[in-house]
Amino acid sequence: MKYISTRGYVGNHSSADAIKKGIAPDGGLFVPEKGVLISLEEIEALVNMSYTDRAHYLLKGYLDDYTDMELKECVEMAYSEAKFDDKAVAPVTYINGTMAVLELWHGPTCAFKDMALQLLPYLLVKAVKKTGESDEIVILVATSGDTGKAALEGFSEVDGTRIIVFFPNDGVSDVQKLQMLTQKGHNTSVVAVEGNFDDTQSGVKVIFSDKSLENRLSQKGYKFSSANSINWGRLAPQIVYYFSAYADMVKNNKLKIGEAINFVVPTGNFGNILAGYYAKMMGLPIKKLICASNDNNVLTEFIKTGTYNKNREFIKTVSPSMDILISSNLERLLFEITGHNSSKVSGWMSELNSRGVYTVDEETKSIVKDLMWAEFCSQEETLKTIECVYKEYNYMVDTHTAVAIDVYDKYVISTNDMTPTVIVSTASPFKFNGSVAKAILYPEEISGKNEFELLNILSEKSGWEIPEGLKDLDKKEIRHKLHCKKDEMQDFVEHILGLS
Ligand SMILES: *Cc1c(COP(=O)(O)O)cnc(C)c1O
Repeated sequence: MKYISTRGYVGNHSSADAIKKGIAPDGGLFVPEKGVLISLEEIEALVNMSYTDRAHYLLKGYLDDYTDMELKECVEMAYSEAKFDDKAVAPVTYINGTMAVLELWHGPTCAFKDMALQLLPYLLVKAVKKTGESDEIVILVATSGDTGKAALEGFSEVDGTRIIVFFPNDGVSDVQKLQMLTQKGHNTSVVAVEGNFDDTQSGVKVIFSDKSLENRLSQKGYKFSSANSINWGRLAPQIVYYFSAYADMVKNNKLKIGEAINFVVPTGNFGNILAGYYAKMMGLPIKKLICASNDNNVLTEFIKTGTYNKNREFIKTVSPSMDILISSNLERLLFEITGHNSSKVSGWMSELNSRGVYTVDEETKSIVKDLMWAEFCSQEETLKTIECVYKEYNYMVDTHTAVAIDVYDKYVISTNDMTPTVIVSTASPFKFNGSVAKAILYPEEISGKNEFELLNILSEKSGWEIPEGLKDLDKKEIRHKLHCKKDEMQDFVEHILGLS
């Protein structure tokens, strides 16, 4: 399979190349040149496979330059029982007998980023070897919370890699901060930056683009790479759980093979829902992909009107992992549905860059509307949903999942569509425990309590066990103590890598 750019560049890139490079040379995103098709018979064959075997089977088509053995090794290391606290890896739970919830948070960091970031390091290390590179890979990450920890867990102790994570010191939750500062692994470094997320992200971009640094690194045998969500190596693993959910529902007699389903996806950067689109194109009988947003509802507007407009106030919400105004992976969808029309896509992206807004043509708009349905959920509705779901079904959902459930209610009211539907659940309720506690406990039960005390209270109240990755976080050893000013980030990288 060859990988081409959404902006028109066509080289001769294998999947290993695309994964190693992350972004295409013309600034576009890598996409597979053609689709991989999976028949209903093949879907039926997935029913009795483990998650690992399903992943192996489905990824083969896209990662065809990896040998069967290599791919098998990668998925087995990524989705092992040591890493995921549920044998099913991504289990489907039925919270009222019918409402299916796909739980993507059984990995080490309790959020769905693990589904891809557990696998990416292994794919990347093999990609480096396959493309004849001998340098050690240095992963640089700027994080506003979830991605940093998931990347640290994924790369920790992976031979041939180093990972350096920068986070804004006052811009992450206490749980998120301690998750990172207590990270084990001889190849991991974590640095708190005195600045906000934008400062941190800009700092990393500057380091990435410094040619002289690149040369000095290369003399020491290092090469930078990135683990962010525009890398095809993060997208492909996410296709698997759409098929896996379908296979599980067939197995549980909730669906007949070939029957249509919907997925509701809490969306930020558009990576998760885009993987659902690829699953549909491969042959999974998906009727609608329902795109759920929070108050940062750029995508809701785009899907309804065809106009993408990021010129609006950025709202910090209780579902922070969806607080995004530029959903990067939408570019891939546009490229696919315009029949690989890179000049159209480049035009829209340059308008977005210069004016912050673009409008797609009528045909593209109607294809989007056919594929997707969109709505958003306010913060008040989010907390209300957590409360209702808990009261009615004795099931806790985090704030992001609550956004999806609320939007699904709106979908059913608006369309009367009773197609079986899966709610894609992206984080453990314990991960965003402050908001969950506020939604389901009385004010006197939570007043004056810190995030760690709240974990225990929620656990006692619900009878759910605190996940391993969050347990006793405040008692673990702090292993990373580096602090820097925003203009010192590069010095720290050089120091950590022994260049200065
Ligand atoms: C990253 C994230 C999302 C958004 O996913 P995208 O692929 O960026 O659309 C939703 N929920 C949680 C908990 C996340 O960490």
